Amino acid sequence: PARTRFAPSPTGYLHLGSLRTALFNYLLAKRTGGHFVLRIEDTDQKRTVPDAERRLVDDLHWAGLLWDEGPGVGGPYGPYKQSERSHIYQQHARQLLDTGHAYRCFCSTHRLNALAEHRHSLGLATDYDRTCASVPKHESDDRAHRGEPHTVRLKVPDQYPAYTDLVYGLCRPLKKRGHVTESAYEDPILLKSDGLPTYHLANVVDDHLMNITHVIRGSEWMPSTPKHIATYRAFGWVPPEFAHVGLLVDEHGNKLSKRNFDTDITAFKDMEIFPETLTNFAALLGWSHKNKSDIMHLQALVESFTLKFTKGNTTVTFGKLHFLQRKHAARRARTGGPQLDEMVQNVVRLLTSRDSPYQDWRKVVCSLSPDDYISQIIAADADNYTNANEFLYRNAFFFTPLRPDRKSPPVATVSGVPMQWRRLRDVGEQEWNRENLMQTVREIIDAREEGREGSKDVYHFLRMALTGQDKGMRLYDIMLILGRGETLARLGLEA
Ligand code: GLU
Repeated sequence: PARTRFAPSPTGYLHLGSLRTALFNYLLAKRTGGHFVLRIEDTDQKRTVPDAERRLVDDLHWAGLLWDEGPGVGGPYGPYKQSERSHIYQQHARQLLDTGHAYRCFCSTHRLNALAEHRHSLGLATDYDRTCASVPKHESDDRAHRGEPHTVRLKVPDQYPAYTDLVYGLCRPLKKRGHVTESAYEDPILLKSDGLPTYHLANVVDDHLMNITHVIRGSEWMPSTPKHIATYRAFGWVPPEFAHVGLLVDEHGNKLSKRNFDTDITAFKDMEIFPETLTNFAALLGWSHKNKSDIMHLQALVESFTLKFTKGNTTVTFGKLHFLQRKHAARRARTGGPQLDEMVQNVVRLLTSRDSPYQDWRKVVCSLSPDDYISQIIAADADNYTNANEFLYRNAFFFTPLRPDRKSPPVATVSGVPMQWRRLRDVGEQEWNRENLMQTVREIIDAREEGREGSKDVYHFLRMALTGQDKGMRLYDIMLILGRGETLARLGLEA
């Protein structure tokens, strides 16, 4: 069983990319009968957004990605908020100092900036030059004791260790110390001068202490991974497995990010995208499966999950999102229950809102309870469902009493044989079902001069009279949902 974690920093809200990361970790844990941990990485207090943590929690709940351990639920490895674990990191930094895998750095910001500038001007990587690595241990202890401000840095080995990524295979940092061109290879700071840990230290210590077996995260973290592996080695720990998944980009190859409002989860919620649509959509971004169909709710994703990720970035296009939404709407309509009720309630809320254009909707809905009436329409139109607003717009005729002009009732104008239309009126309330209606309409067609040749006209006429529009769902569904009284009234036939 895998123990996985989602470790967001509350510096922004959940967006499509981070939802996907959380989802993959959730799926792996559930697939293997393991545990999914939520850990809040709030070490960067300056960048913390006040309501971000609450919203992260709410959004994960909404998406159905419930954690087995973490804030709110507890667990054996808590606390699960890094700001409550400072003493643990300090103790671990001390351990590395004692074993010689880390050293205190007393260099001022001023010196570090000047150094970086100088190296930059020489075309070198702006690495720290390791001056403080040679401060003797007793002197370092003394200076720290006297309260001299310092950070703690990891003393990275001359050659970074290689590691095997589950997506990218063997990753071998090629550069040796001294020949380094990327600052990613410098001695990273583990503890800041205020005694708080950096991401690198806190992340490694927590993944180890929380027994995390697999880390699935965005490939933007790949440059940090050698540092993390080196830190695990320094502690003498076995690192977890890493799987780095490609970034999400738009059609122009630009990174989607937290700052991109379009992909903030709230935007999807506001569009009334179902949680199962969004998790389905997110799962398909850079992950492949062997199922016949792409349409999977959360449990189906759990059942099909494997670590089959594609290398490289994934382009996000939103057409698929709307396709999945319609498919999940159809599934909700088929299965009924609370998920369908929620859709119905959204429609009712719009109908009854103060500025609703459907003030008379209750007059139309008299044969059924409003909830039944609306769920029947949803079921009949599920293949087109995106959200309540568009649904109402498409199906407005179900909520507006359409009445024909009294002086020239529609049946007279189209058919030339008004008498025949009365057959429809003769179908009683009890017999108002699909078979009888089909039969009766066929009789009407046959009785007209044009016979079967004219069937198209009849259907078109019925549709226009009943809906006021020339396209839409199946005619008999409309007649059944409207019911006998309303159907006849729209045709100008006295019930
Ligand atoms: N706190 C990091 C983030 O916000 C976690 C990265 C990781 O998964 O290691 O994405």
